Amino acid sequence: MEKVCCYCGKSTSKETTLEHILPEAVGFKETLPVGAVCCSCNTAFNNNIEQKYFHREILSSAGLVLNEVDGKKGKRAQLGHSSMTPNGELIVSGKGKVQGTSGSSHYHSTSRLIAKCFLNISIKHIGVGLTRAKMSEMISFVTSPKTKEEIWPMAYYHVPELSTPATYRVKPYINSSNVESFICEIIWPGSIFCITSERNNQVHNLCKDVLDKFLNENPESKKCTKFGFTIKHND
Ligand SMILES: [Zn+2]
Repeated sequence: MEKVCCYCGKSTSKETTLEHILPEAVGFKETLPVGAVCCSCNTAFNNNIEQKYFHREILSSAGLVLNEVDGKKGKRAQLGHSSMTPNGELIVSGKGKVQGTSGSSHYHSTSRLIAKCFLNISIKHIGVGLTRAKMSEMISFVTSPKTKEEIWPMAYYHVPELSTPATYRVKPYINSSNVESFICEIIWPGSIFCITSERNNQVHNLCKDVLDKFLNENPESKKCTKFGFTIKHND
């Protein structure tokens, strides 16, 4: 059978690119089989998704954010300061809203990165063909989101002291259409995420419960400060 890229569907029989399941930037070494993701999708993910997310994380750990403010020639980016309340609300100094680089919102870049990790995990567990068949909506969200504000619902805790190595856990889950799917926890230094293939707000309460359980079970996290937020879909 001809090998195709899970994300764009192009033939990858001559490709040698290796796609990391979770970002190499968080120290994750395992890759997908050669041909699961083509070179142009891999490069686009690196430039448009990972770099945006990690650039913002670096600013945020320094208490800085990129604000979008009005300038003489339309909107421009300006560095501002941020802090988080224990309830997970982000307080941003000055006007404007929190932005990643190139104007994409923080929620958008976070959920797009985690959706891509989820799809990579799916490729590893059920293969390219089934992932393309079952998760086409999520694939479109990752490869060509309709707007820079579009999000995929999920739950996320920023846990600054959590120094666990990058890993993920997959659990079976029966979705709202009574079909077996899976729920995925993604963990790396400083952050834990939970996401499913379903795009509605019921599942993100479930995701939040999964994260709370993880933090209760993990002795290291007892001492941790955590800032939780859930990314909700406007449905
Ligand atoms: Zn591709």
